[in-house]
Amino acid sequence: MSKDSVLVINCGSSSLKFAVINPQTEEESISGIAERLVGNEAFISWKINGEKHTQELGAAGHEGSIEALVGILRENNLMERIEAIGHRVVHGGEKFTKSTLITDEVIQGIEDCSHLAPLHNPAHLLGIRACIKNFPGLPQSVVFDTAYHQTMPAESFLYAVPYSLYQEHGLRRYGMHGTSYRYVSKTAADMLGLDYNNSAILVAHLGNGASACAIKNGQSVDTTMGLTPLEGLVMGTRCGDIDANVFSFLNKQCGYSLDEITQLLNKKSGMLGLSGLDNDCRVLEEAASKGHERAQLTLDIFCHVLAKKLAGFAAELGRIDALVFTGGIGENSSVIRKNVLNRLAIFGFDIDDTANMETFRGKSGVITKPGSTVAMVVATNEELMIARDTEALVKG
Ligand code: AMP
Repeated sequence: MSKDSVLVINCGSSSLKFAVINPQTEEESISGIAERLVGNEAFISWKINGEKHTQELGAAGHEGSIEALVGILRENNLMERIEAIGHRVVHGGEKFTKSTLITDEVIQGIEDCSHLAPLHNPAHLLGIRACIKNFPGLPQSVVFDTAYHQTMPAESFLYAVPYSLYQEHGLRRYGMHGTSYRYVSKTAADMLGLDYNNSAILVAHLGNGASACAIKNGQSVDTTMGLTPLEGLVMGTRCGDIDANVFSFLNKQCGYSLDEITQLLNKKSGMLGLSGLDNDCRVLEEAASKGHERAQLTLDIFCHVLAKKLAGFAAELGRIDALVFTGGIGENSSVIRKNVLNRLAIFGFDIDDTANMETFRGKSGVITKPGSTVAMVVATNEELMIARDTEALVKG
């Protein structure tokens, strides 16, 4: 059996997602997730040949779940097919501008960025170290969420706070979802027959976490997420843009501590906080269709903020070759897409209702009428992008 696939690892603070992907054929031979890695009730579940399996892991932690994964790969004769491992890493700071093979220096670099993503980078390092131990000799790479946005000009990434905070502490906009933007914008350009190196593409990555990006000639020139994923759009549970004085306001008015306010803005706000119902867009759409006014208002605020950001980005780009929707909401919600495009009619969007209704997860396509400024759906595939990057690095 030839070595034709990449093991993609996405380590979170209490979970570890994995997939074995052939970057050439895009075939995914196995995928799964180890969950509850903090505590004594960890388990790993995976899908292979259309069948689902689960195994209890006890107090396995990240390292134990990688050991279990090795066993699962062996049992299914997949070890021989893995040519390399690609790790998703959330934050690469200003140090990492592209994907790279793992060395001791790279590991140190990820550690140095840990203060920028304290929940994520330490977890990624656990996964990386466990893989080095359990897959000796296999080349490994890291693919950063932030790297794609390192092309943003200073006017896009700097906050208007004392410049020394940027110089001494790295306080600036970094942006996230970079791997998705890279995949989705290139796929859209290819589908439309655009010259990627001479293109102006807007992408709205709308999932539980949501952001938008302005992409000029294949490079990110602006994005909505900031120092952390809290800034920008309304999200499932995150508030997005807000007056920073809300911290002192809530402290004085409600007696909340710094940690409580951070929790409130990250975990209890957004669609969940506004609607008082749920963070899931589907639930809100269902409720709104039955006349729930606050659910409708929540969806309208989500679309209002997004449209406002996209309009600003359009001005930055100077033209729109395509507006691309992706992520769980972007790929599946015809309601949100229509709501947003109606707000952007001034840019010449003329929605094709039939195409919009027919486009859902896994199905990419244009959702506007001929002659309209193009809006489309592209299903994102960050894992495939990580597998492609890893193979390219390994093959030099
Ligand atoms: P993601 O984080 O990209 O997996 O996206 C998750 C979000 O996609 C969920 O919060 C859902 O609200 C949303 N979603 C998934 N399917 C649909 C759908 N059919 N209609 C509206 N929203 C959806």
